[in-house]
Amino acid sequence: MSKQILVLPGDGIGPEIMAEAVKVLQLANAKYSLGFELSFDELGGAAYDKYGVPLADETLARARAADAILLGAVGGPKWDAIEPALRPERGLLKIRSQLGLFANLRPAILYPQLADASSLKPEVVSGLDILIVRELTGGIYFGQPRESKLLENGERMAYDTLPYSESEIRRIARVGFDMARVRGKKLCSVDKANVLASSQLWRAVVEEVARDYPDVELSHMYVDNAAMQLVRAPKQFDVMVTDNLFGDILSDEASMLTGSIGMLPSASLDANNKGMYEPCHGSAPDIAGKGIANPLATILSVSMLLRYSFSQVVAADAIERAVSLVLDQGLRTGDIWSAGKTKVGTAAMGDAVVEALRSL
Ligand code: NAD
Repeated sequence: MSKQILVLPGDGIGPEIMAEAVKVLQLANAKYSLGFELSFDELGGAAYDKYGVPLADETLARARAADAILLGAVGGPKWDAIEPALRPERGLLKIRSQLGLFANLRPAILYPQLADASSLKPEVVSGLDILIVRELTGGIYFGQPRESKLLENGERMAYDTLPYSESEIRRIARVGFDMARVRGKKLCSVDKANVLASSQLWRAVVEEVARDYPDVELSHMYVDNAAMQLVRAPKQFDVMVTDNLFGDILSDEASMLTGSIGMLPSASLDANNKGMYEPCHGSAPDIAGKGIANPLATILSVSMLLRYSFSQVVAADAIERAVSLVLDQGLRTGDIWSAGKTKVGTAAMGDAVVEALRSL
């Protein structure tokens, strides 16, 4: 039976970068006989324009029925003024939570060809290969109660709640250990256990899960120290596992170690490795429609899709190799360009990856 991939290009540069990723996916589909069938729908602002909501029920139903989802990016100034519940980003949060995509995997890999694109010294980042595992459907972004109110003295106040249950921590910790097991066998759990009750439970549960993974070396780090260590000596890390809020911040920090957010893919997985795959960056309205966006993060998201949802390791490796070959050829989109390299647009970069993949 064919496997269904739902493609959601989204807004801004989303359709441009997705066109290139789809070319690569279609070639991999044919070359490795993957049996994928692609269908297309809208999410975010494009869905609001078409359906009046950022995630239509029929789109959610198609996403549930699909074996994996490939997403571009959502959002943009066109939809900034609409009511908060209908904003593009709400569609993204809804699809993640409705599909139970609790494990967000964000690799930060520095391609050696791009060592000079990082703001850190090459010796600090060369060879960097970190995986951040972020809890995605719990914690302070979803916790209740949350409220903004007026106090009796007329002062405004607001609060959020940071809840984590044992089972939520246990399942994300397992993902962290499983990933570490097939990589460098080192897991750093990041929390704020010196202050937060939720972090104290986090640390205790991670310790319990560690008993099932004696082959993985576990360490704990407070989030403030982790933020510092990521820029001081990032290569000390293999896999980091952390909660929703800390992971949001640390994964953006880690992404910039590699020079450009235009290179970084991500995966969001449920308990059965069904996943949604997307670049780490947003819809880049400032460059949308210009044909200059870097499609490599989305193309590398295709590689993650093959690896994590379908265990198609050969095809996944080949796409990563094709990207590396194109960088060897000196081709660069504007965000990763440096003197002496050949500047190309979105479509030319996608075509080059397709050619490189074909040649492998
Ligand atoms: P952004 O990631 O869209 O852009 C930040 C900067 O990086 C911009 O200068 C942009 O031109 C550049 N950039 C991003 N992707 C690039 C690429 N592939 N190639 C070359 N340059 C690239 O972040 P932002 O400007 O803060 O947000 C813009 C919109 O995207 C907002 O509406 C925001 O809500 C949304 N957003 C969506 C997602 C998502 O869909 N997952 C994530 C982050 C932001």
